Amino acid sequence: MGTPVNIIVGSHVWIEDPEVAWIDGQVSDINGNDAEIVTTNGKKDMEAPPGGVDDMTKLSYLHEPGVLQNLKVRYELNKIYTYTGNILIAINPFKSLPHIYGAHMMERYKAVPVGELSPHVFAVADAAYREMVIEGKNNSILVSGESGAGKTETTKMLMQFLAFVGGRVATEGRTVEQQVLESNPVLEAFGNAKTIRNNNSSRFGKFIEIQFDKSGRISGAAIRTYLLERSRVCQVNDPERNYHCFYLLCAAPQEEIEKYKLGNPKSFHYLNQSKCYELADLNDAQEYLATRRAMDIVGISQTDQEAIFRVVAAILHLGNIDFAKGKEIDSSVPKDDKAKFHLKIAAELLMCDADALEDALCKRVMITPEEVIKRSLDPQSATVSRDGLAKTIYSRLFDWLVDKINNSIGQDPNSKCLIGVLDIYGFESFKLNSFEQFCINFTNEKLQQHFNQHLFKMEQEEYTKEQINWSYIEFVDNQDVLDLIEKKPGGIVALLDEACMFPKSTHETFANKLYQTFKNHKRFIKPKLSQTDFTIAHYAGEVTYQSDQFLDKNKDYVVPEHQDLLIASKCPFISDLFPPLPEETSKSSKFSSIGSRFKLQLQQLMETLSSTKPHYIRCVKPNNLLKPAIFENVNIMHQLRCGGVLEAIRISCAGYPTRCPLFEFVNRFGLLAPEAMGAHCIEKNACQKILEKMGLKGYRIGKTKVFLRAGQMAELDARRAQV
Ligand code: ATP
Ligand code: MG
Repeated sequence: MGTPVNIIVGSHVWIEDPEVAWIDGQVSDINGNDAEIVTTNGKKDMEAPPGGVDDMTKLSYLHEPGVLQNLKVRYELNKIYTYTGNILIAINPFKSLPHIYGAHMMERYKAVPVGELSPHVFAVADAAYREMVIEGKNNSILVSGESGAGKTETTKMLMQFLAFVGGRVATEGRTVEQQVLESNPVLEAFGNAKTIRNNNSSRFGKFIEIQFDKSGRISGAAIRTYLLERSRVCQVNDPERNYHCFYLLCAAPQEEIEKYKLGNPKSFHYLNQSKCYELADLNDAQEYLATRRAMDIVGISQTDQEAIFRVVAAILHLGNIDFAKGKEIDSSVPKDDKAKFHLKIAAELLMCDADALEDALCKRVMITPEEVIKRSLDPQSATVSRDGLAKTIYSRLFDWLVDKINNSIGQDPNSKCLIGVLDIYGFESFKLNSFEQFCINFTNEKLQQHFNQHLFKMEQEEYTKEQINWSYIEFVDNQDVLDLIEKKPGGIVALLDEACMFPKSTHETFANKLYQTFKNHKRFIKPKLSQTDFTIAHYAGEVTYQSDQFLDKNKDYVVPEHQDLLIASKCPFISDLFPPLPEETSKSSKFSSIGSRFKLQLQQLMETLSSTKPHYIRCVKPNNLLKPAIFENVNIMHQLRCGGVLEAIRISCAGYPTRCPLFEFVNRFGLLAPEAMGAHCIEKNACQKILEKMGLKGYRIGKTKVFLRAGQMAELDARRAQV
């Protein structure tokens, strides 16, 4: 291998390895540009003390392999939490660790400064709470990581801790903090599903703003949600599941099953596309009752609960309405008696007229200047229409739940301060990537920019505090990717909207427009072998998107026939889900854009976040088998990179990554310059002499710490080993 600078015989080194990421070793011989290295094959742990260090910045060598090694040593000891400066890394244990959670642990972490106890999610929550109470500042905790990494579990623990320190003594009835906590199972029943990546995957993003009064008590809360995955309602890939609520309802007490004409989930098209019905550690019948109880606590009335599950049942029946060719050309009718039966039940449950439902599914109204004509849909289009109706109803139902929870918990208009907790999907890059991945990765670019900017500020503050001068360090700013996506006019989101409004566009014309517009953009690539895919060079790597469904998925309009049908429902709950459209929108543009609305939501989120002091938690999924005790190096490195942890390390490496208190430095390296030592030596001077004698350059000596450049500590250690 080529020798980097500053390597001498005896140096400890890491060798990059495609399988295990890094192997540690020691230089045994140097011959010109080559170095011979004896590897330890990971048997010997050369730098992390047994048990690892609880803050990576305490590592003598701050670099990728050192970081990975430290996490691994700790994970083996069930120490799943580790700091990297002000980021908390949490590695999913995939097993229950009751001894590190619970009331006794919350009590221990309460009002103890970060760093005094082992790293913990409670320590982060406590820090946010103290800063809010003492300094009167809004705080936020940003939890990120890929699917299955543990974001939602972490978020729940944060909320539990905040309810613990900011709750009232248990009183009669529902308290705000109880409602806040119980909103989780309700949202999970309707917004979570089993996927191949996680048995309880959140299919939406959420930001919970917990409000506190002037004495630091929880006084209100607001939940904002982002982009629920709609397609899952009608389309489930094996071995995944649809949203939990469908299976819970099929396992409800007999009385309800009869009322809703339900039965085995295997008999419903929206559920039987996948062979997975049951989850190993989830009892649907019990979960149904638990969800009903949680709904009671968050303040959803019995009448509303009945209507909610009636709608859920109606969606299942809708899915079973199959179509066949009708008598006229290109028309369709319910296929058989079974389809007619489900149509009748769906109409009953939605409390609308069965013929009107059939018309809404199978026909479209055309308004021409001369007359109003009803045009028939062929069976395939009628099926698309049916699925569209199911998705619309379900997403309106989900939004209703979020609104209801918000109204019921209530906002505190006099709130002094708030703590926001963000649980949002991490960076995604699959074999095939569509509009959803585009939006998710857009979110992550936004958060990454926020993160970099904040990190930079913190570094600067530390240097100023230690009174050392430093020059501006360059870091990769991702503003150019954000411009590519969201610039108005001319960004991808804007071009997509244009394409959606122009009736003749197809995904081909859209992709062509992108190719032309961004021909010379550094972050945009046209793949050689495709005429419709496009690639964006994100901060976390390149992702190629398939444009074919972008136009459809960006359009968010309710078919007017569906709207009219449901407004006429005799059930006020259902008709209220479909408020009449304002006159001009219903006529001129039926189009409202999901992409633009999402962009706006993100903007608002970023505004909120920038008015808060942020805390970062990076959840890591140690393996894709969802099993305990398996630590996959390459996989984890990739996540640390995507989560900005390595970028954080890089930023600090670009400056002075190693910090060591003066006295510690003198103790450790005094023997390199014994003449500088002495009973009355001044630490600062002794430090200076040691570093000069070793011929090092570029370091800084601050008021209480010495700041070393990357690699300098390693060099000093190697020299010390030779003395
Ligand atoms: P998604 O993006 O799919 O919603 P997520 O990051 O929210 O994923 P979680 O649902 O929080 O992931 O976690 C997945 C599973 O991992 C949990 O259901 C639980 O089994 C396990 N898990 C996560 N964190 C912990 C923890 N601290 N202790 C024990 N088990 C955990
Ligand atoms: Mg989740």
